[in-house]
Amino acid sequence: MTATEVLDPVIEALHGVLRPDQVLTGRTDRYNRARVPAPFPVHRWAERLPDLAVLPETTEEVAAVVKVANRFRIPVVPRDGGTGLTDGAVPLRGGIVVDVKRMNAVHEIDLENRTCTVGVGINMLKLNEQLAQYGLIYPDDPASYPCSLVGGRIGTSGWSLIGARYGHTRDLVLSFDHVLPTGEVMHVGDGAGGKLTKSSSGYQLKHLFMGHQGTLGIATRATLKLYPKPEAEFSPFFAFADYDSAYACVGALARAGVATFSGAVLFDEWKVAYLRRDDEAYIPQPADVRALACTVLYGYDDEVRAGGRRLLRIAREHGARYLGDEISAGDWAARHDRYATPLHGRTRSGQVVPMSWHCEDAAVNYTDLPAVAREWHAIIGELRAKTDVFDDWGMFCYTSGSTGADYLTEIDVGIWEQQLGDRAWAMWVEAKRAIAAAALRHGGSISACHGSCREGEVDLVPEELGRGFDLMLDLKRTLDPNNIMNPGKYLLDRAYPDPGATAGTGDGGTP
Ligand SMILES: Cc1cc2nc3c(=O)[nH]c(=O)nc-3n(C[C@H](O)[C@H](O)[C@H](O)COP(=O)(O)OP(=O)(O)OC[C@H]3O[C@@H](n4cnc5c(N)ncnc54)[C@H](O)[C@@H]3O)c2cc1C
Repeated sequence: MTATEVLDPVIEALHGVLRPDQVLTGRTDRYNRARVPAPFPVHRWAERLPDLAVLPETTEEVAAVVKVANRFRIPVVPRDGGTGLTDGAVPLRGGIVVDVKRMNAVHEIDLENRTCTVGVGINMLKLNEQLAQYGLIYPDDPASYPCSLVGGRIGTSGWSLIGARYGHTRDLVLSFDHVLPTGEVMHVGDGAGGKLTKSSSGYQLKHLFMGHQGTLGIATRATLKLYPKPEAEFSPFFAFADYDSAYACVGALARAGVATFSGAVLFDEWKVAYLRRDDEAYIPQPADVRALACTVLYGYDDEVRAGGRRLLRIAREHGARYLGDEISAGDWAARHDRYATPLHGRTRSGQVVPMSWHCEDAAVNYTDLPAVAREWHAIIGELRAKTDVFDDWGMFCYTSGSTGADYLTEIDVGIWEQQLGDRAWAMWVEAKRAIAAAALRHGGSISACHGSCREGEVDLVPEELGRGFDLMLDLKRTLDPNNIMNPGKYLLDRAYPDPGATAGTGDGGTP
């Protein structure tokens, strides 16, 4: 059958449940919804195009689209901000991209119960602009704060920079309306009203329906936990002559048990060298500064002052040099746009080449950070020795919890994407596998925030989850009998005897 013969009946059925302006088949509409920030060989881009995109405005419309998809056995891929770094929102088999950005209303702000209920297409920046008038904040604070949306945060079970105080997406999302892969609608979360932070009734399904990368359905409307907007912020940055001192200091800051402690970050020598070389916004430090640490506190002014004094004392005891209020406040304020710097590129054979930023993350315990850092830099070092397509832009380690037990560990890699041919891509996939393997060898997890769907890393998911991976396959088959939801991700095709039975046209649809 031709692409037209496959798609025409689907489009006709979608027109039965949506207005014409909600069904998009044009090239630009589809190309724009194939785009994600993670690098991919430019010449293979067409492999990731959807056949069409839809813009539903209600839960019922999402459910109707998913039912149409089941009828025609065509894939459905949910998409929010499209900032995911593991290709979760990329359609691997064509099909329908469900773009939920029009579902971006604030439906309710409940001042007494400290919750708000929103459409999942809203981003945290816009939501917090509305909450500010009530002195409230929704403190999910990823580096992608202005561009990732609530639904994508649910789909990835995101990680927040200030999670050590306020928790991460899974703690902050109380409940949500969810369209299952069959098109049925359910409410996920504690209690019948959706505004509880804790219940012990039945299985704790909220966690199952978060972080599944769109493979178990589509969240449409979420109830979120709110906090008083903090009166004070203090984010001291410290300089060190070596990595070991900075590492020891970050550990001590995170373990101090200060109530307003919201996070600590370690920048290693490679990161400092990268900032010095390639980031114009970086205020140059003397050459003997080789590692940096920062911590951040939020709360009422008096408690932040007291906690800050304690943390400054601890840092001094570890040989830290305080960088001063201006650099500290400025660097912390740049946390949402620091990642936009990479297009500066790198000098190669006398010419500046455009490199895109890419980030590999893992969850690692404090005691294993130095060993993982050594192994990861060695992996990128080997890549650099083979080709100049890759560069090592250094590592950050961020506390995940208030006790300093585990860290989101990331290595930033510059990639000259225009030169990312098949050979370099194969090298990259191999390096990703080695990066994930190192995290597992040290008792960690392949990902603390992005997920682990991409080639290379995904191969090791069964190893990390053990019997849990078999259970994932059973759940997927039960909840998504037709393999409609985001097929091809997380090795979940293994749940089906004939996974190829669900596919779009595979050629990006009609032009
Ligand atoms: C510069 C930059 C900085 C980043 N910093 C962080 C960070 O600090 N912390 C962090 O956690 N991540 C970070 N990320 C990664 C990314 O922003 C997060 O993974 C984010 O949660 C993705 O949200 P999104 O709205 O862009 O989702 P998308 O990329 O659109 O989707 C992500 C996944 O969720 C699924 N999905 C989308 N919508 C829904 C829905 N309504 N229901 C169910 N599933 C859905 C998609 O199919 C996909 O698998 C960063 C990315 C960039 C580019």
